[in-house]
Amino acid sequence: MTQSYIDPFESAHIERLVKQYGSPLLIVDCERARAQYRKLAKALPGVDLHYALKPLPHPAVVRSILALGGWLDLATTGEVQLAHKLGADPARCIHTHPIKRDIDIRNALAAGVKVFVADNPDEVRKFRRYRDQAELLLRVSFRSPGVVSDLSRKFGCDPQDALELARLAASIGVRLRGLSFHVGSQAPDARMHVQAIGVCAELLAAMRREKLGPLDTLDIGGGFPIDYLSEVTTIGRFCAPIRKALAQLPARVRIIAEPGRYIAGPSAIAVSSVMGRAQRAGKWWYYLDDGVYGSYSGQVFDHGRYPLRALRTGRLQPSVLAGPTCDSIDVVAEDVPLPRLREGDLIVGAAMGAYTWASASEFNFFPRATVVSVNEVLGDVGSVLEI
Ligand SMILES: *Cc1c(COP(=O)(O)O)cnc(C)c1O
Repeated sequence: MTQSYIDPFESAHIERLVKQYGSPLLIVDCERARAQYRKLAKALPGVDLHYALKPLPHPAVVRSILALGGWLDLATTGEVQLAHKLGADPARCIHTHPIKRDIDIRNALAAGVKVFVADNPDEVRKFRRYRDQAELLLRVSFRSPGVVSDLSRKFGCDPQDALELARLAASIGVRLRGLSFHVGSQAPDARMHVQAIGVCAELLAAMRREKLGPLDTLDIGGGFPIDYLSEVTTIGRFCAPIRKALAQLPARVRIIAEPGRYIAGPSAIAVSSVMGRAQRAGKWWYYLDDGVYGSYSGQVFDHGRYPLRALRTGRLQPSVLAGPTCDSIDVVAEDVPLPRLREGDLIVGAAMGAYTWASASEFNFFPRATVVSVNEVLGDVGSVLEI
């Protein structure tokens, strides 16, 4: 019997789930995660999509991606252990943290993960003793000053140093699988991806001419943008120039990508409740049981701003939404148009799957939101999973 889809983001279902699981609640819709995966797969045909666990390392999402035949991008021993526990085929996993302890490498190898990333000579040398098992992608950096979080300042080698790094890897017998890059998250357009693909294509060709390894993989990273307060272009249109750039590569080069935000972001909403209210300087302040130390931590770490709404309807007036902690920085949003709220009323933050709950703390002993996943099997009404 096939069950039909339940949209857990509809008000009636939100209320039901909060009654059952309490507040604050992060409601993860696995069907939306699958839809995002399918949309990106369609926008990037022939590209193997490795879900990056970092933005939402939740078992239900990981299992949903694996069930679609997807791959995983792991960066830490904890993520390796989660993938292992969920029975992920290690051949479908890559370990992409450019800086690792020896124990992290050994843990990943013990779980069967073979492909790693390095971006400097010291890191490459760490693989000398594992050269019979491990393979490397070299991460190249492309600065994207326009991107909200520019990952190429912290990681990646300069394109002009990549060939020398590849020579070093080859000289100590480490198998070079290819190159990777990450242009930064929530990219405004695909220009950096296209530029990076062009440079990497030349580097791969130069490395193959010197027979430095199989060099048959290009990892184009993440960065695929989603709608927050403003709409971005459709993923099909965003990826069109990427498709064109990839078509220039030799057919035997396997292309992979590492989407995180694009899959996780639209798949969850954060639901919190009004704990109390006060009128201050002529404005209503509503104090929620979730805030910037919790699910709204993305406003600090990810520079995020989320579409907010109340389930109650009524005449709207500019109001303040504050988090529960005793810190003055813990204000979620000011001048939000809201009806007059009462204790227990629910506030919903949309597009809150990525880099939100994952970076939440329990400051002041306010617990992180409970995570409930819905539609892992279509029509499944919700289950809380411990991590
Ligand atoms: C964070 C991260 C990702 C995911 O990036 P998104 O922009 O969220 O898609 C992918 N790969 C690596 C190496 C990362 O650090």
